[in-house]
Amino acid sequence: MLLAACEPKGEVVNVYSGRHYATDEALFAQFTRETGIRVNLVKADSDQLLNRIEVEGTNSPADLFITADVSRLSRAAASGLLAPLPEEEVLSKVPAVYRDTEGFWTGLTMRARVIVYAPDRINPEAIATYEDLAKAELGGRLIMRSIQSHYNQSLLASMLLYQGEEAAMAWVRGIVANFAREPQGNDRDQMKAIASGLADVSVVNTYYLGQMLSSANEEEQKVAASLRIVFPNQADRGTHVNVSGAGLLRNAPNRTQAIRLLSYLLERRSQEFLSAGNYEYPVIAEAEWPELLQQWGMFRADTINLNRLNDQLDRALVVARTAGWK
Ligand code: FE
Repeated sequence: MLLAACEPKGEVVNVYSGRHYATDEALFAQFTRETGIRVNLVKADSDQLLNRIEVEGTNSPADLFITADVSRLSRAAASGLLAPLPEEEVLSKVPAVYRDTEGFWTGLTMRARVIVYAPDRINPEAIATYEDLAKAELGGRLIMRSIQSHYNQSLLASMLLYQGEEAAMAWVRGIVANFAREPQGNDRDQMKAIASGLADVSVVNTYYLGQMLSSANEEEQKVAASLRIVFPNQADRGTHVNVSGAGLLRNAPNRTQAIRLLSYLLERRSQEFLSAGNYEYPVIAEAEWPELLQQWGMFRADTINLNRLNDQLDRALVVARTAGWK
């Protein structure tokens, strides 16, 4: 009895995260220094984490589920795994466009999905919109990663919502006709292929470019420095953006600590730290952008409701499959 009483009481929060960044871990460590609350981090693929939470059921130690794929948060909410987030500590800090309409998850960082190109071979005026990527003049010069990528599903979902199925289908047929190779690799691989001359243009999230520019690998630095980006659709709906986000588990054993961590991640200094370290955009307006993001410039972001996009992901996959985007 005495021994048990002498044990440190040690508050903890258990985080299941599909985000695998050094910035996140540094921020969790800082949170622990400031609050005394230890962060137990379980890192895996978002799908694996979600399956694990489902299998663990009411015995799950998970308090927070963090992922770069909000469709997984929607799925978690729909299966009753998440608790509504508190208004004051969490929801009120985040603009409505970057969180769940029902309040079951919130965005933590925002990502812009832009057009990247080789400036010696492409006139940026010719690629001012995503729609431009389907034009015949880009025949054999475009590469895209697979539609299995959540980022591309989300982009295609936005085309579906804005233009309807027929136009979205025609767009996919157009870009597939322009492919310089079968879809393969991740966002970084698209940039490497453009730098190597295999293609001239692709679509990537900006933080990958930022990470490559500041990479310890000189080759990656060279690739990134040779490329330029365009924020598409500035004259109309704005550039497609997605978020990484977090949800609080309904069965969270450390609910108070989890809310405290989530609230901490949404503080201005945390948002600035994440953005400076990882080149994602803050989700809160007061946070200042790091220099590189300022250099890329202000842009108009598509403000379409993220829940509506999530609802279109399955349809986007069907359209892609029908039109030949693997
Ligand atoms: Fe990513």
